[in-house]
Amino acid sequence: MSKKLFYKNPYIKEFTANINHIIEKKEEFHVELNQTAFFPEGGGQPSDKGYIDDIPVSHVYEKDNKIYHVLNRLPSKLENVKCIIDWQTRFDHMQQHLGQHILSSAFEKLHDVQTIGFHLGSEYVTIDIDKQLSKNDIKKVEYFANQIVFNDLPVSAIYPSNDELNKLPLRKKPSVTENIRIVKIDDFDFSPCCGTHPNRTGEVGLIKIRKFENYKGGLRIEFVCGNRALKDYYLKNEITNTISSLLSVKDIEIIEAANKIIEENTKLKKELKDIKEKLLNFEAVDFYKKSSIINDIRIIKYIFEKRNFNEVKTLSNILSNNPKTIVLFGISNTDKAQLIYSRSKDLDKINISEILKSSLNLIDGKGGGSQFAAQGGGKLSNNINAALNHGYNKIIEILKSL
Ligand SMILES: [Zn+2]
Repeated sequence: MSKKLFYKNPYIKEFTANINHIIEKKEEFHVELNQTAFFPEGGGQPSDKGYIDDIPVSHVYEKDNKIYHVLNRLPSKLENVKCIIDWQTRFDHMQQHLGQHILSSAFEKLHDVQTIGFHLGSEYVTIDIDKQLSKNDIKKVEYFANQIVFNDLPVSAIYPSNDELNKLPLRKKPSVTENIRIVKIDDFDFSPCCGTHPNRTGEVGLIKIRKFENYKGGLRIEFVCGNRALKDYYLKNEITNTISSLLSVKDIEIIEAANKIIEENTKLKKELKDIKEKLLNFEAVDFYKKSSIINDIRIIKYIFEKRNFNEVKTLSNILSNNPKTIVLFGISNTDKAQLIYSRSKDLDKINISEILKSSLNLIDGKGGGSQFAAQGGGKLSNNINAALNHGYNKIIEILKSL
């Protein structure tokens, strides 16, 4: 059993140790030391990283009371081996972990809410709580949690006897039955935990809730502490200042300015739509005038180059609103051809969908619609002329037979 230096003093960054045992597994070496300050993953806290004899430690885990350090090559010696903890990562884990204790305790104290899940990720930390709360209630919890930080309360780990344990106001039940380790934040919070924590709440730094969402009937709260909160503040400040400068308003006026822009944008889109419709109506008049007339029926046939599909469809509908009118439109693109056919309601002998389908065969296309209006597209854009002519000839055949 290796001596757990991280419990004796969670601030140890460097130490020397002797190698007790090495297990080779899949071209990696699982090294057991006589003593270690490397925290193995546990209690929601990820494992430490660092170096043993200048060899990177990729993972640390505990199995059968032994702690194993995973290395990709063998150390050069077995005794007095120099070990270095990646302190930046470890201190970050300590900040997030104690921050979680404080936040979970604040939720319980203010709203009688229990924490039922905890995840310490590489970017964000989440806890899952068993009740839904309002945005304002959550804000109060965040404020309260930060006051616990600012009060700089002492944090310690104790190993109480069963009798002592029964008297403690534990926030949650221990998951083990022996050697129960309680992390104590002054008289504020008592929680069974195997993780590493700073000695005072002040070291956690700011606790910032980033967002929350409904989760399994309760809420998932995403937060960051300490240096992660500072990093988050850098980002938020950068975003705020950039938008503020883009919109030429003070930071506190951003939301109002953004709302105004969205409102204006909606209005402009509507205006643009109206203008486009007017233009399409003018264009329709032009097409109508140029249409060929066969048996008193107007036929409009035209191929557009790379034109917006919906625009052409609207134009087709406007035109076929006129009596005795048939519209055969095509759109030619580099890699595809589209066909949009329509006819006025009074030409009930012509099924436009069937005519479209026979045209689509020529461009290897697919599509459909009603007997009044149909559309489709295919890959053979070079054949678009032939496809449209095919449709046109079909119509002439029908008109002649009437
Ligand atoms: Zn903990």
